[in-house]
Amino acid sequence: MNLENKKLVVANFKMNLASKTEKDYWLSNFIKAEKKSEATKNALILCPPAIFLDEFVKNINSKTTSFGAQNCFWEDKGSFTGEISPEMIKSLGGEFVILGHSERKRFLKETNEMINSKTKRVLKSGLSPIICVGENAEEKRNDQGLEIILNQLNSILEGINRGLINKIILCYEPVWAISANKPDHLPTINEIMGAKLLIKKFLVEEYGVNIAKRVKIIYGGSADSKNINQVCLEPEMDGVLVGKASLIPNELIKIVTSLN
Ligand code: PEP
Repeated sequence: MNLENKKLVVANFKMNLASKTEKDYWLSNFIKAEKKSEATKNALILCPPAIFLDEFVKNINSKTTSFGAQNCFWEDKGSFTGEISPEMIKSLGGEFVILGHSERKRFLKETNEMINSKTKRVLKSGLSPIICVGENAEEKRNDQGLEIILNQLNSILEGINRGLINKIILCYEPVWAISANKPDHLPTINEIMGAKLLIKKFLVEEYGVNIAKRVKIIYGGSADSKNINQVCLEPEMDGVLVGKASLIPNELIKIVTSLN
């Protein structure tokens, strides 16, 4: 999908829709809700558990919906038990892969070097990586947020072909604002804009204005239909990454149409 001039809503289902019954229920409700919803020029990118990707692609027939995965490996095939490759995702109709999510760093010990290798392979396959960067609660307390984001960008984007940088979507996702981490508040508009400006400045310095202006920068962390216009303030942010709210089809569609 061509994302130019579009706001993005990326749905990260995580390890939810935890049974065939739950997945069928979500799909049928989403299809019904989508038929009733107003037209949108925004792009919805659904990233279900990889085991359901094929079924999502086959059943959701919409000009404004694209599909992706929540992770992949850094090789295309071989003896890597349990892993899925960018080529597999692509062959099922996926166009995007979320990389570097803090939950994978925390529970699976993913490093920035691993995310860098994954990013290179995803780009080689012609898919777009959606790369999460952001500080955790302790780093925020120590006032290290911006420094952490810069370190992550430097390591994750190291050695990436300049000509492919514009295919990357960057997501500022402060770990402390993710709903599963029970945040007691959302970032302020200033905090979100501060991170966005830092990322933009990094891109301009590394790759020049022309490339930098084509990289989409989105926000992630407890976004829902009530706060969407606060966390995705027009026209500065290019969209949102949504976790919990994507489990309710009507809510997800409300988020997409609120960005109209
Ligand atoms: C996430 O973890 O990527 C996320 C956006 O989650 P939530 O919206 O539930 O905070």
